Amino acid sequence: MRDYPTKITFGEPRETGATRIIVFCRDYRCSHNVQMDASRWPDEVRISDVEPRFVCTMCGKRGSNIRSVDAPARMGTSG
Ligand SMILES: [Zn+2]
Repeated sequence: MRDYPTKITFGEPRETGATRIIVFCRDYRCSHNVQMDASRWPDEVRISDVEPRFVCTMCGKRGSNIRSVDAPARMGTSG
């Protein structure tokens, strides 16, 4: 389910224009997720350091998987 190496920092997705993240519950059976603004964390903070700090509001388990939300694709139909 990982789209990138775990050493990635918050600065990296921002370089591509992504400003939001999705925090997934670590328990796949719960799979609760929430979108957040990534600007609250400095560029040098590693995402893998933040993942364990989240506690799921649905099942109460600690730990999460964070993925960046891609910036809207600048693509569309012409005409
Ligand atoms: Zn959960």
